[in-house]
Amino acid sequence: MSLQLPAGVVFGEEYQKIVSHCKENKFALAAVNVVGTNSVNAVLEAAAVNRSDVILQLSNGGASFFAGQGMPDQQEAKIIGAVSAAQHIHLVAKHYGVCVILHTDHANRKLIPWIDALLDRGAAYKKKNGRPLFSSHMVDLSEESLEDNLNESERILRRAVDLDMSVEIELGITGGEEDGVGADLDTIDNSKLYTQPEDVLVAYDQLNSIGHFSIAASFGNVHGVYKPGNVQLRPEILRRSQDLVSKTHNLANSNPLDLVFHGGSGSPAASISEAIEYGVFKMNIDTDTQFAFAEGVGAFVDENGAAFKHQIHPDTDEPLKKYYDPRKWLRAGELSLVNRLTQAFTELGSKGRSVAE
Ligand SMILES: [Zn+2]
Repeated sequence: MSLQLPAGVVFGEEYQKIVSHCKENKFALAAVNVVGTNSVNAVLEAAAVNRSDVILQLSNGGASFFAGQGMPDQQEAKIIGAVSAAQHIHLVAKHYGVCVILHTDHANRKLIPWIDALLDRGAAYKKKNGRPLFSSHMVDLSEESLEDNLNESERILRRAVDLDMSVEIELGITGGEEDGVGADLDTIDNSKLYTQPEDVLVAYDQLNSIGHFSIAASFGNVHGVYKPGNVQLRPEILRRSQDLVSKTHNLANSNPLDLVFHGGSGSPAASISEAIEYGVFKMNIDTDTQFAFAEGVGAFVDENGAAFKHQIHPDTDEPLKKYYDPRKWLRAGELSLVNRLTQAFTELGSKGRSVAE
C-alpha cells in the first residue's frame, strides 16, 4: 500500500509515516528556510509544480524578520514571527495540494527560551485547533557536553511529545554559521565535524523510548557555500552510526535513525544520494535558495534599471509603474527560487512523489 495523506501541514504519526516512507523509498525532503510570505509561497509553489512534499523552516532570525525588523521588541518578534508564519502556512499549505512539515531551525542554549515559548504557544494553539503549531522543533546543543546536550534535548522532547510533535537534535558540529548559531571552521577541532557513532548510540538509548526525534549528524557538512577543499564530505560516517545502533539493539531495520543533512547548499549530487542511502530523510537548504531569490531580483533590476530610479522613463516618457510594482520584482525572485528548488527536489528524489491525496 502506498502512503496517502491529506494535503497540508502534517505532524505526529503522519509526519513519522512520511519520514519512514522517504527512507524506505530512498529519497529525502528539502527543508527550506523561509523569511516571509514571498519565500513561503514560492516554496509551496515549487512543491506543487514538482508534486513534492516539503519542509518549511524558520530560524530565529527568519522568524523575527517575519514579524518585522521594526518591531520594537526583537526577542518577542522571534516568537510572534514564528507563530505568524506557522498560521499562514497552516492556512495556505493545503491549497497547494502537497504535504508540508513545519519546523524551526537551530536553537542553541541562548535560544532555548524561544523554543519553550513556541511550545507554550503550540499548546494553546492545539487546545483550540486540535493540532500543534509546528511539526517539529530543532534543539542544537552540540557545543555542550553530550550529557548536557541530551538531558536538555530530552526535556524539550518530553514537552513536544505531549503536543504530538517531534524534535531534531544535533550531534557533532555542522561547520560554518546559520543565523548566528554555529562554529568557526578555522578554530574548531576537526573530529567534532564528524559525529561519533558512540554518541549517536547514547542519544538513541536515552531518547528513543520517549518519542520521535531526528538527528542532525555531521559528516563534514558545512553551512553556506565555500570554495571546495575546506572539509570533506564523508557520508559513510552516517552508515557507521546506523550500523552501531541497529546491531546493538538487534533491529531488523538497518537504518533505524532518522538523519538530517544540514548545509545542503553547494553539495555534490553524489554525496546527497549517498547520504540518503544511509538514512537521511531531510536536507536543509538555505544559502542556495537565498542566492536564487537574489539572482532573480538582480536580473530583473538589471533589465529594468530605469524603473528603480524614475517613475516615468526620462528618455521615453513611458510610465514605469508596471516595473517598480513590488509584485513584479518580488515575483522574479520567487520564480528563480522555484527553479532552484526544482533542482533540489530532483537531486533529493522527492519530485513526483508527494503522498498528498
Ligand atoms: Zn543547520
